Amino acid sequence: MSDKIQMKTPLVEMDGDEMTRIIWKMIKDILLTPYVDLKTEYYDLGLEYRNETNDQVTFDSAEATKKYGVAVKCATITPNADRMTEYNLKEMWKSPNGTIRAILDGTVFRTPIIVKGITPFIPTWTKPITIARHAYGDVYKNTEMQVPDGAKCELVCTTPDGKETRQLIHEFSGSSGIIQGLHNIDKSISSFARSCFNFALDTKQDIWFASKDTISKKYDHRFKDIFNEIFDAEYKEKFAEAGIEYFYTLIDDAVARVVRSEGGYIWACKNYDGDVMSDMVATAYGSLAMMTSVLVSPDGVYEYEAAHGTVQRHYYRHLKGEKTSTNSVATLFAWTGALRKRGELDNTPELCRFADTLEKATIRTIEEGVMTGDLAALSTLENKKTVDTETFLKEIDLRLKEML
Ligand code: NAP
Ligand code: MG
Repeated sequence: MSDKIQMKTPLVEMDGDEMTRIIWKMIKDILLTPYVDLKTEYYDLGLEYRNETNDQVTFDSAEATKKYGVAVKCATITPNADRMTEYNLKEMWKSPNGTIRAILDGTVFRTPIIVKGITPFIPTWTKPITIARHAYGDVYKNTEMQVPDGAKCELVCTTPDGKETRQLIHEFSGSSGIIQGLHNIDKSISSFARSCFNFALDTKQDIWFASKDTISKKYDHRFKDIFNEIFDAEYKEKFAEAGIEYFYTLIDDAVARVVRSEGGYIWACKNYDGDVMSDMVATAYGSLAMMTSVLVSPDGVYEYEAAHGTVQRHYYRHLKGEKTSTNSVATLFAWTGALRKRGELDNTPELCRFADTLEKATIRTIEEGVMTGDLAALSTLENKKTVDTETFLKEIDLRLKEML
């Protein structure tokens, strides 16, 4: 028996592309395999292998995630026209994140990693604000038209028995205009609500949800009602036991409260609100490279990753043999998140302790002034040293050794 930490059940490991693929290997070599007898089921989601397998590997990795319950994912290329030629692709394969999210029916939670020396643009935000974005429907699956003057526009619903219900949207008179049809489905809203409540319990944080139910008395109100019904029926007691709260308010009131808050809660957002607010919150906390992301399914499956992409520009410099100073913190925290979750599910507290210690060693490294270029540009520390990608990980390891 080695004296490395043992794992009872494998993690699903999804490898990826470009600079993050380089970082992935460095993290494993420098900070994980020397300490943990890593058990992973490996899926190569790098674009070359996705192309070779006609993207089957992405589907297989999602199915494996359902089976094992925990995955860690490296950033991957979502192909566009340039990538078609660069990688000589058979098809413009879909975004792996989209495919995995559809299979797991999950919600994405994004949380900033806070360190001393990097003050959020809203300085009262001393704790992280986690944003959960509903990722189905509304304006992202809309139907819209430009309509001429004189047009009469109606909503028409035909039920399976052939019955029609009509409602006037607007009779255009004196001007042409625009109309839009939106939808959402109760099943998706319910999954979203359950993922949010589960994640709140899991992380012992309050959860806020907001919509515009005073104006949208059927559409937004349905979101409010579904959240309330599920909360009352399934979560009320668990929340009371955990000492956390579910709080519903109007979206404008939520925005005002968020700005005045100190952070430390989950903010569940409808699709559009989440799109806009996640960019605002990420920017306010400083760096995309310090933002972690976890996909949580309503039945409690977790997939951890960094919120940023494959850092393509750094990769091209790396290929030319130049040293880069790429921030590995969000990718490293994806690993610690997954290892901690594995430890919780398998009841291996030494694995959880290792994950906690590795996170603390990482934060200590930055707070002692050793950091990558993106953070050095933001940090107000006086004695800071910018290091390259690999040196940063070795500096973490020095502290980790001391702390374990
Ligand atoms: P990106 O990889 O997030 O990088 C954009 C820029 O942000 C970088 O050029 C870099 O700025 C800075 N940055 C991001 N992460 C950093 C890190 N860890 N350390 C230091 N700087 C960092 O976005 P992108 O360049 O738009 O996308 C590249 C590829 O990633 C695309 O093919 C896209 O499809 C994919 N992508 C994947 C995911 C995912 O898998 N979850 C998410 C988003 C994008 P400087 O160059 O100024 O240093
Ligand atoms: Mg956005």
